[in-house]
Amino acid sequence: MVDRLIGKKILVRGIVQGVGFRPFVYAQALANHLFGWVRNTSKGVEIEISGTRKDIEAFLNGFKFNLPPLARIDTFKTQTIPVGHYSSFDIISSLSQPEDFLPISPDMSICPDCQEELFNPNNRRYRYPFINCTNCGPRFTIIQGIPYDRPLTTMAGFPMCENCLEEYQDPFDRRFHAQPIACPVCGPQLYFETGINNGVMGETALSTVRELLKAGKILAIKGLGGFHLACDASNREAVQELRNRKNRIAKAFALMAFDLISIERHANLTIEERQLLQSSERPVVLLERVKNSLLPYDVAPGQNTLGFMLPYTPLHLLLLEPKEGYPEILVMTSGNLSEEPIVYRDIEARSRIGHLVDGILFHNRPIHMRVDDSVTRIVNSKPYILRRARGYAPNPIIIPKEIPQSLATGAELKNVFCFTRENYAFMSHHIGDLDNYETMQSFEEGINHFQHLFRINPEFIACDMHPDYLTSRYANNKALEDSLPLFRVQHHHAHLAACLADNGWKSDQPVIGLTFDGTGFGTDKAIWGGEFLLGNYSGYKRKYHLAYVPLPGGDVSVKKPARMALAHLKASGIVWEEDLAPVRALSEDERKVIFTQIEHHVNSPLTSSMGRLFDAAASIMGIRQVVSYEGQAAIEMENLIDTEEKGFYQFEITKDIIDPTPLWMLLMKDWHLGVPPSKLSSRFHNSIVELSKNLCQKIRSETQCNTVALTGGVWQNKYLLEHTYQKLKNDEFQVLFHRQLPPNDGSIAIGQALIAADSFR
Ligand code: ZN
Ligand code: ZN
Ligand code: FE
Repeated sequence: MVDRLIGKKILVRGIVQGVGFRPFVYAQALANHLFGWVRNTSKGVEIEISGTRKDIEAFLNGFKFNLPPLARIDTFKTQTIPVGHYSSFDIISSLSQPEDFLPISPDMSICPDCQEELFNPNNRRYRYPFINCTNCGPRFTIIQGIPYDRPLTTMAGFPMCENCLEEYQDPFDRRFHAQPIACPVCGPQLYFETGINNGVMGETALSTVRELLKAGKILAIKGLGGFHLACDASNREAVQELRNRKNRIAKAFALMAFDLISIERHANLTIEERQLLQSSERPVVLLERVKNSLLPYDVAPGQNTLGFMLPYTPLHLLLLEPKEGYPEILVMTSGNLSEEPIVYRDIEARSRIGHLVDGILFHNRPIHMRVDDSVTRIVNSKPYILRRARGYAPNPIIIPKEIPQSLATGAELKNVFCFTRENYAFMSHHIGDLDNYETMQSFEEGINHFQHLFRINPEFIACDMHPDYLTSRYANNKALEDSLPLFRVQHHHAHLAACLADNGWKSDQPVIGLTFDGTGFGTDKAIWGGEFLLGNYSGYKRKYHLAYVPLPGGDVSVKKPARMALAHLKASGIVWEEDLAPVRALSEDERKVIFTQIEHHVNSPLTSSMGRLFDAAASIMGIRQVVSYEGQAAIEMENLIDTEEKGFYQFEITKDIIDPTPLWMLLMKDWHLGVPPSKLSSRFHNSIVELSKNLCQKIRSETQCNTVALTGGVWQNKYLLEHTYQKLKNDEFQVLFHRQLPPNDGSIAIGQALIAADSFR
């Protein structure tokens, strides 16, 4: 007896193009004796099949277990249709609809198969620095438009050779429709340039670069999403020289090592850290530095962590391939001057960073979108993203509800913007601090590219409430130009909503939001940042906040924690004694100015910032008086923590105000008694943990609300997050913190979009 045939139509959405999805479907269909076809559409992948019920079931099961590594299915819709008249299973030509859109894969690190071929002398791509396949290689950085086909990528200028074309057209080949496919015959090439000679190509370029790095030189190296500045990480003079030339005083440098074995000489690795380092996203992972690491202090001054990544392109592997006497670990920091965006065009590399380096290693595959390296760490045994860029962006975040198409411009520092369409939020890669012309340009380029790429026509625009943020001004102008409604969203409310969205929070139930950060414009025009909110996507109440203190001189006090310490001490009625660390750190004249600024409310905005409370504490403990990057004082204070120390200090709560006076009194007393900074630091951190728990309990008893969201830049602090999480968990709270997005301002755009959508209706 013959089984009756049935027909099915399937629409798959998600990251299903350029990742070997059709060949996978093809192979599955053949293996299960099905007839029909598969094709790309501008919405996803469409499949029509006919076969027996049993065979179709087996085919559908395949999607659960055997997906190609880079594929990601967001929706999978099947529908029964009449049995078609097919005599084979085919991959048929693509269907493009001008209005449709689909997510695009991020750039992915070299896969094990390509790595094997790279070092196999019998392979035709042996030592070819641009080897890739459908499972790996550049995507987002080379795509100029959709549909994702070679002519709309920066590979358009490289016609395939016969061998490559054959692979490209063979559904059983790993490179079937791999758009960036290339080989030494037809693909991009390396060339190395110094100011003196005209340059060398290929293997000679590579060996010259390795020689120069060995000799302690500083080079620019073109990668996937931009140029790196590189030097031998074990060479102290080279590292110091790089700091001088780049004008980067203290911020840690990212490091790259050939493999885990080299990393382990300098950092302790947990299983989760190994997995994250080796993941196809290959982010920088902050790791605990081992005591006997021989890397110079200047690699990561004042830190007990090192930021490592593994090679993610074939070129990186060739640069670090183990060879006696050659650098084992390279500093690989963004190719830029100070805080400007990463340089990604060849011409810019010569003009903007050429003078910083002893030579530039170029290749001739153009980069269309610049993307920095991502930065992560393991928190609570899971990956925690601090900077979301290469490998993660532009993977969409699934938002809990469908909202109209929109643009949210994000914050000013660590900017990330967001477009929404259907239930997708397309969060941009990390753009940077919008305090210079170049970054602003990069922001606008990014916005135009995303809008074009995902074919989005915003119905409204959301931005921060801060009137002077460049992102708010941009939003305002764009709203006027396009006649769209503009919604100005309070910064910490946006943080709270972002954390909810990050956790797929669907409910309208309000949650307790511990939104702790450095700066955010409040509805009363004060600078908020130590906020206990109760809210959801539609609104919030400010339940408790740190007592306001003046920020004497505004931004100057952000750069000088000593000034913040004096402001806090004065607010708590504590005398500026001569022996105090912050007092000693400032001249008498500066102290007089600060005193007058505070007394007469001159250029001294009020702030409830948690970040500034950390700064003041670090200053009083004598840890840091002047910072060269945001969060430096807090990071150095966290590094000193003695985990054995369980003590903590009190705050005083009056109505909705959290007054740190008792904390400062006790901290000063301990300091005078000579308690070491390691213990002071622990006690300070524990105080914030205790405060968080106590106030959550109070809010819960009033409101029955049992869910807490931990969000804002202060939660980059691992100790604080892990301990607060545990304390709250032990007390039966449900605790949300960030998973797919960073806790800092890099996530607030999605919160802005969701909050604005609520008012838009
Ligand atoms: Zn590959
Ligand atoms: Zn070729
Ligand atoms: Fe913030």
